[in-house]
Amino acid sequence: MKRAIASLLIPVFFLLTGCGTAEAQEQFFTMDTVMSITVYGKGAAEAASAARQEVEALNAKLSRTEADSLISQLNAHAGDGTAVDMDGDTLELLTFAKSVSQLLPGCFDITIAPVMDAWGFTGEERHVPDDDTLAAAMALVDSDKLLIDEAAGTARLETAGMSVDLGAVAKGWAAARAEAVLREAGVTSALLDLGRNITAVGPKTDGTAWRVGVADPEDDSQYLCIVSLEDQTASTSGGYERWFEEDGVRYHHIIDPKTGYPADSGLKSVTVISSNHLLADALSTTLFVAGPEAALDFWRSRDDFELVLCTDQGQLLVTEGLEAGFEFRGEELGYDCQIVRR
Ligand code: ADP
Ligand code: MG
Repeated sequence: MKRAIASLLIPVFFLLTGCGTAEAQEQFFTMDTVMSITVYGKGAAEAASAARQEVEALNAKLSRTEADSLISQLNAHAGDGTAVDMDGDTLELLTFAKSVSQLLPGCFDITIAPVMDAWGFTGEERHVPDDDTLAAAMALVDSDKLLIDEAAGTARLETAGMSVDLGAVAKGWAAARAEAVLREAGVTSALLDLGRNITAVGPKTDGTAWRVGVADPEDDSQYLCIVSLEDQTASTSGGYERWFEEDGVRYHHIIDPKTGYPADSGLKSVTVISSNHLLADALSTTLFVAGPEAALDFWRSRDDFELVLCTDQGQLLVTEGLEAGFEFRGEELGYDCQIVRR
């Protein structure tokens, strides 16, 4: 338990930052993780503080463990027929999250919350659930039963016991909103580390791209490779981030909605790089569940993201759009690396 929590606090990405002029940094804990926002240029301190406030305000709205949040209100009324008032932003996020479930069926579902609870991932006591408990929780997972009425501005969960958990998308959404706040304040260079979601706003102050390291899932103080980022997010999902051990078996926090068990699809981690910060976060979780072949097939069907896949076999699969500025650093750690073409 202690180790699982400690591993949360170690920054997963190694950052090679620019040597800026005026620089301000906010470090804080929210959305269950350590975050930092580093801003360069005139007005950096005020802008960084405003971006932090934006992220904290989103947590207060979206967290299912904050009693007064919009999501807690939605969950509290599951199955009682009440359509719960949401704000426009939250409805947009819920609609987006539902749409992700359609992209790769069976991999992503924000109504996974009862299953997270059955495993104890929400509280302190993590454990393998018994079959009946897990089956009962699994019967409640179905985002088709999250009904959104955009005209009325409401959302409703159809069945009692259903519950929404935005853990897989909240940080990407927060990155997009924090970037908007920074841009509004005139910021042209900043780096957000929202807990395994690294967002580059603009280039570094010297005009070159940010350099961001992707952690070794076996030892997140080491990194496998370095990628270049500019106006993009690199979001990593992996089974190494939050886990517990029972009877010698490791269980992690990304659940395969087809089985109710931690995803075991042949990947140790997935890093998605995209100029769409929200998409990067949602897809890192989804593709971690989907596995390497489905992830690469999906990549070939789109042109709005790139991937670094770390397989169980110790292979790094890197999509060709990342080639410029890519540096492999995993050789001494026992990995090999392959560029994947379309
Ligand atoms: P992290 O929270 O470590 O950044 P992710 O972005 O991959 O990693 O999100 C994992 C979180 O998403 C879990 O803690 C849980 O709240 C939720 N979750 C777990 N499995 C799924 C899933 N298959 N679909 C949607 N959300 C999930
Ligand atoms: Mg995610």
